[in-house]
Amino acid sequence: MPEPAEHARYRRQEILPEIGPAGQARLSSAHAAVVGCGALGTVAAELLVRAGVGRVTLIDRDVVELTNLHRQTLFDEADAAAGTPKAEAARARLAAINSGVRIEACVADVVASNAEGLLGFGADRAPGVIVDGTDNFETRFLLNDIAVKHGVPLIYGGGIGTTGAVGVFALPSGPCLRCAFDGPPAPGSQPTCETAGVLGPATAAVGARQAAVAMRVLVEPPAPGAATLERFDLWTGEHRSVRIERDPGCLCCGTRRFECLDTDDAPASATLCGRDAVQIPASGAVDLDALAERLAGAGRFTVGPFMLRGEIEAGRYQLTVFGDGRSVIRGTRDVAEARSVHARYVGS
Ligand SMILES: [Zn+2]
Repeated sequence: MPEPAEHARYRRQEILPEIGPAGQARLSSAHAAVVGCGALGTVAAELLVRAGVGRVTLIDRDVVELTNLHRQTLFDEADAAAGTPKAEAARARLAAINSGVRIEACVADVVASNAEGLLGFGADRAPGVIVDGTDNFETRFLLNDIAVKHGVPLIYGGGIGTTGAVGVFALPSGPCLRCAFDGPPAPGSQPTCETAGVLGPATAAVGARQAAVAMRVLVEPPAPGAATLERFDLWTGEHRSVRIERDPGCLCCGTRRFECLDTDDAPASATLCGRDAVQIPASGAVDLDALAERLAGAGRFTVGPFMLRGEIEAGRYQLTVFGDGRSVIRGTRDVAEARSVHARYVGS
């Protein structure tokens, strides 16, 4: 008798003693939240979906661009030409890879006021693991607060130049990200993919290692204790692991003060890293069709399910408005100028 297709799909994974049929069943009932669908998130999400993790939530604020394609493995030239939101492009590709996985795409910027809801806390779909595919420490420390508050492992990852780093935080009795890094570095103090460059194999290795760590914590209850931060250089092959101890005085996991999560500070408008563009945060959901009608005399706009986009002022600026109310003004790095353009066309 032929074996059922779903059994055949995972057979070579199930024969691993580390996983087995019981581990596969745990994966199929698990939920992973992947925050950031860039170089790390696309690789990690693809491997988790292929591995049969039952539910995967993808959250990303950006759209696909040509400069992403050398390392962001779920996207192609058509996505870049269309400027498809990364979360949606990833969802569509992953749904074609494994239709048995429930995949949710959220086109949104993760900030304190929406983060727990986007990740699925507060409903009956809290994730069993959070995969950090972000490119900035502000969001990572927000994710760390959520991971510690809810007791959900956070799989940290970072990649820059030819190097990568991976660590698992917020395990029972284990350290959190703040134990390892103290706090977010000063804005602009760290190299970025734009200033230092980034090697595709390095970020792919980070995403793959994050997926393996996520599968392990979903399959085996993690042992309490210290964590390791792994660092490697994909060009030279060097690899080292540093043991990270829990800091009893840690603001987050020691005193359980969730400074990044429990803040009333509204997110600020900001120049997007390495790009000639400014993001204006959401001030409430926007009816994109109604806005397109209102803007009809100001330029040519296209409206899709996730965003409105068009050029204004004779092509000097490109305006993108997402359904959650967030806008990106391309054509300037000056926050005040962008806010003024935004007020003229979208309103404040
Ligand atoms: Zn800590």
